[in-house]
Amino acid sequence: MANDFELVEMRNAQGKVYAAGAITFGGPYAAVDSFLGLQYACLRAVDGLATARAPGVHSLNPISSLGQWLKWVFNQSP
Ligand SMILES: Cc1cc2nc3c(=O)[nH]c(=O)nc-3n(C[C@H](O)[C@H](O)[C@H](O)COP(=O)(O)OP(=O)(O)OC[C@H]3O[C@@H](n4cnc5c(N)ncnc54)[C@H](O)[C@@H]3O)c2cc1C
Repeated sequence: MANDFELVEMRNAQGKVYAAGAITFGGPYAAVDSFLGLQYACLRAVDGLATARAPGVHSLNPISSLGQWLKWVFNQSP
């Protein structure tokens, strides 16, 4: 897999596939089989999708993360 956890061989004209967790052992990040590793893989995947300009996906930053967390707190959709 690529450094952003994309399974490059699965890429096609309209989609990309990413993986996270223990299944990514042997990839670019050693601590994948941990809760921190799961979060890291997801953040890298979101950044990769944002870079590829996937519809409706933006890079996470502290401000937008706080906004999303507040939506979760107040039971609103993302
Ligand atoms: C006892 C213990 C304590 C831990 N404590 C910590 C801790 O304190 N801090 C920390 O950071 N990490 C801890 N971990 C590690 C953490 O639990 C794992 O890193 C994390 O659960 C990995 O998530 P995952 O989604 O990759 O795999 P999993 O959580 O194992 O999820 C895989 C899922 O896929 C399902 N599955 C498997 N095969 C198939 C199939 N063929 N078809 C359909 N479904 C399938 C399984 O049933 C399972 O639900 C601990 C692990 C253990 C065992």
